[in-house]
Amino acid sequence: MFEKILIANRGEIALRIQRACREMGIKTVVVHSEADRDAKYVKLADESVCIGPAASTLSYLSMPAIISAAEVTDSEAIHPGYGFLSENPDFAERVEQSGFVFIGPRSESIRLMGDKVSAKRAMIKAGVPCVPGSEGALPDDPKEIIQIARKVGYPVIIKAAGGGGGRGMRVVHTEAALLNAVTMTKTEAGTAFGNPEVYLEKFLENPRHVEIQILADSFGNAVWLGERDCSMQRRHQKVLEEAPAPDIPRKTIEKVGARCADACRKMNYRGAGTFEFLYEKGEFYFIEMNTRVQVEHPVTEMITGIDIVQEQIHIAAGEILRFKQRDITFKGHAIECRINAEDAFKFTPSPGKITSWHVPGGPGIRVDSHAYDGYFVPPYYDSMIGKVISYGSSREQAIRRMQIALSEMVVEGISTNIPLHRELMVDARFIEGGTNIHYLEHKLDEKPDLPKVKPKAGKK
Ligand code: ADP
Repeated sequence: MFEKILIANRGEIALRIQRACREMGIKTVVVHSEADRDAKYVKLADESVCIGPAASTLSYLSMPAIISAAEVTDSEAIHPGYGFLSENPDFAERVEQSGFVFIGPRSESIRLMGDKVSAKRAMIKAGVPCVPGSEGALPDDPKEIIQIARKVGYPVIIKAAGGGGGRGMRVVHTEAALLNAVTMTKTEAGTAFGNPEVYLEKFLENPRHVEIQILADSFGNAVWLGERDCSMQRRHQKVLEEAPAPDIPRKTIEKVGARCADACRKMNYRGAGTFEFLYEKGEFYFIEMNTRVQVEHPVTEMITGIDIVQEQIHIAAGEILRFKQRDITFKGHAIECRINAEDAFKFTPSPGKITSWHVPGGPGIRVDSHAYDGYFVPPYYDSMIGKVISYGSSREQAIRRMQIALSEMVVEGISTNIPLHRELMVDARFIEGGTNIHYLEHKLDEKPDLPKVKPKAGKK
């Protein structure tokens, strides 16, 4: 096992990885930007290295700065967390070429999954169900494009092979709009992602977002750790997640889970990963694979009792997977609310000093956060400041516990989205379960006081 790991990330996930390491008796090095210098988790680490100014391009995205930090601290392995460089195949490659272990998949796997056309091709080959669409990238011939779209049936969605973060997609409802949409998406994709390739697939109108967590070792073993329902989204950003997904037959989940584990074995995949699917009318359709730990991994940890971050480290250290599929059991229900420093309904970021921070507790409550009384939320990064996770023997109990947790939680000095979560926890459709990916936006649209922006205090 490693003696020292460098954590190439910030915020709650840096603290989460640090906790996993400390439990395993591994020393930690945390890298940080000038803006994160005073964060408590930086002080808690065995060592810390300032790698640059606040701007992430000069710090958390700087490969040479991170690799130098690993060199000067004699770290053996680098955990990239999520976001930043975690899905950059060049980074994974450079880490390994510099003699460190990258806690994640091989760079080839990251590269394969980073290109959506090659990812989809690999999935089809591995027998994972995909959204019907073009076989690979769209050809140049307009007649062929029209034929493909007719065969798939409208509405269709044009997607950039190199797209990500909800960008590089265009929905087309009629043949008249097709060719123009293809040209526009191609041009945009070329500029934004350096790759003009686009592909076409059926646009699913009311799907849910359901994903499968997997773990695979370097010896051809792979397991799936159940599913998460992440349908509560705004602008393709997840707001709340839960496991298991309500009202999906276990047989259907088991089938797709086994396919995902099988695909990992076929692709020689190593580490933790997530297969994201759209789920509509009883069918799963693969959309993309994330080759890293995800924000919402705790809900899976709660219902399986498996520490996903620790397993990532065991796998990276060259150990054989410590359990077989039959050893994995699912118990109870877990919900995660992402706590963001932003206006609860207008979603404008709200950085600044937290003047009062009181976190909830009690049975079945877990809070993953790097924030505290007096912590300054920097304006330079993602607005997420923590996650509240509730666990119950049933979904009803998990909801009830989350309601209580959110009623106890106090954050002052900045605005947070806690009021939105409080509303969701008593929302009749959420309580019923199984809402689709458009539900939250529709709900927000119906709020009578939105989007009328109230003037900020002090500003007239
Ligand atoms: P990104 O990598 O940019 O997140 P994804 O392929 O994961 O792109 O898609 C992001 C979101 O776009 C999905 O969660 C879904 O809301 C929507 N989407 C993507 N493909 C389809 C589709 N075929 N039908 C309907 N919605 C889709």
